[in-house]
Amino acid sequence: MSETKEGVLYVVATPIGNLEDISARAGRLLSEVDAIAAEDTRHTQRLLRHLGIERPLISLHEHNEAARVEQFRRRLADGDTLALVSDAGTPLISDPGFLLVRELRQAGCRVVPVPGPCALIAALSVAGLPTDRFTFEGFLPAKSGARKKQLEAGAARDETRVFYESPHRIRDLLADLAAVVGERQVVLARELTKTFETLLEGSASELLSVLEDDPDQARGEFVVMLAGAPPKEVSADDAEGEALIRAMLAEDVGVKNAAAVAVRLLGGRRKHWYQLALTLKSES
Ligand code: SAM
Repeated sequence: MSETKEGVLYVVATPIGNLEDISARAGRLLSEVDAIAAEDTRHTQRLLRHLGIERPLISLHEHNEAARVEQFRRRLADGDTLALVSDAGTPLISDPGFLLVRELRQAGCRVVPVPGPCALIAALSVAGLPTDRFTFEGFLPAKSGARKKQLEAGAARDETRVFYESPHRIRDLLADLAAVVGERQVVLARELTKTFETLLEGSASELLSVLEDDPDQARGEFVVMLAGAPPKEVSADDAEGEALIRAMLAEDVGVKNAAAVAVRLLGGRRKHWYQLALTLKSES
């Protein structure tokens, strides 16, 4: 009886700076696969050399990703094992691979994650900002108008917002943040896991002054984290909220749901609307 080997695409996270952050499993799989698809083969070659690994490399970047899909599908169908890596961190996170993974999964191929470093997760893990909910927005548009528009669109969100930024645009981003969210707390995580790893926090304008005073602080790679909008203070006798809750109670919407709808439509604290709904219900 012939044994058919099942083809697998491993999506492998690699270090974002410190090469010791490669996991034992990632190192083993990279040394075992039939070929490694890499965003920049020369960059990945350096990592492989460091690990003492010699495997064939295939370039896979945003300009040839679509064309590579069929080649990969055939190799997986033939039982090959392949790995996908990017220059740093987790593939697909502001890096190529989305199209390949989507198409291969749709074609029924096995795609297996090999988790590891990711700049946004590393940054959140040390920023001291709430992480129970957050929005990752990747790189904002390069042009200030479009960038401000996106910042404004999310300005009322109450969860932590996370952005990636390059040294060329970090000052522009901070200037736009200062214009859009004013004094709100920002945490800058620079050069994580590398020699000049730095965490800075303050308002966007304070951070901008730090970078202007010391241009070295503007070098390297950045994760920018913005604290969520503070809860809107709503006074207990807010007429709009009271009318809304009265109308919902009259329609037999429960106290809990009425409070949830009020939070969603008017902002403010759930506890506040819940208390008001309870009071109004007991009055009726
Ligand atoms: N796939 C990567 C990941 O998992 O984080 C992200 C790749 S994206 C092309 C590169 C951006 O990630 C940088 O511009 C920077 O915003 C962020 N980044 C990557 N490495 C970093 C590091 N060591 N420190 C801070 N930010 C980093």
